[in-house]
Amino acid sequence: MSEHTKCLILGSGPAGYTAAIYAARAGLKPVLIKGNQPGGQLTITTDVENYPGYPKGIMGPQMMQDFEAQAARFETDIRSGMATSVNFSGSKHTVTIDESYQITADTVIISTGASAKWLGIPSETRLNGRGVSACAVCDGFFFRGLDVAIVGGGDSACEEASYLAKLCKTVHLLVRRNTMRASKIMQDRVQSIDNIQIHWHSETDEILGSEAVEGLRIRDTRTGELRELSIQGFFVAIGHQPNTHIFKNALAMDEQDYLVTEKGSTKTNVAGVFACGDVQDRVYRQAITAAGTGCMAALDAERYLATTGVH
Ligand code: NDP
Repeated sequence: MSEHTKCLILGSGPAGYTAAIYAARAGLKPVLIKGNQPGGQLTITTDVENYPGYPKGIMGPQMMQDFEAQAARFETDIRSGMATSVNFSGSKHTVTIDESYQITADTVIISTGASAKWLGIPSETRLNGRGVSACAVCDGFFFRGLDVAIVGGGDSACEEASYLAKLCKTVHLLVRRNTMRASKIMQDRVQSIDNIQIHWHSETDEILGSEAVEGLRIRDTRTGELRELSIQGFFVAIGHQPNTHIFKNALAMDEQDYLVTEKGSTKTNVAGVFACGDVQDRVYRQAITAAGTGCMAALDAERYLATTGVH
């Protein structure tokens, strides 16, 4: 089975839905494929307090339902499913959905976002959801009054450590070097909070426990010396990985696999293919910036169609 659309949007975070709202209102009748985390990363947060227009804040999942409803109102064809491969070598771009059917498109807007990185050790996988988490805001609540550890030295780790410190007894922050990557203000904040204990030169050897997290074995990165901490929760905040594996060999990426776009636009290196949101943004990564670039992508797609005579 194969079908054709003027505008195919991959991903359903703020970037994808904003692109859909603009493309649909411009009459492009976009098809949007939701991907394997419908609503994107905001569905695993709680309060969003910095999105303009919500003076009292809004819950992340509710916000994404509203984005979806607005895209649907202008007759975006919103579908469950996952883009599993692409072919951008022809004049029409082909995207395979769920390895089962193909859609050809004059323009493709990629808004597949980014996912949290994991350490990649077996105990992390085994205890995932049993005390191991990559989202302090989602799961911190379960560890009220308990001892937890969080790995990372960036702004995310500092922000999540500060959040956990309000709920938990002790927060052990594991930093693998003698310095943090986080902004100075965030570093100062974690250093000023009494129940955050920073462990420099420390990396995770193993998370301990059979059915649930019971402790942590950490390694000194200088001496290799091992020691144990008693914890009940283990959080990972070591950055994000853009969801771009299906675009390998099809689109230009940087050394960290983020899609490369032309300065001041959402154009990729392939005509008619545009990228917006976290999949092309390693710096800002905010709902509002993702939505902004989603708008740009739809306008870029519309202009491209006008110049090619399709629309
Ligand atoms: P970063 O890439 O900035 O930091 C990742 C951290 O994790 C680094 O300290 C890194 O250590 C460490 N790390 C990476 N891999 C491992 C590993 N295998 N084991 C142990 N530690 C590891 O990611 P963030 O998610 O923190 O931030 C991403 C971007 O988002 C940044 O630009 C940040 O400023 C921004 N951001 C802004 C916020 C705000 O302003 N409120 C909040 C959150 C994020 P090393 O330094 O040794 O490589």
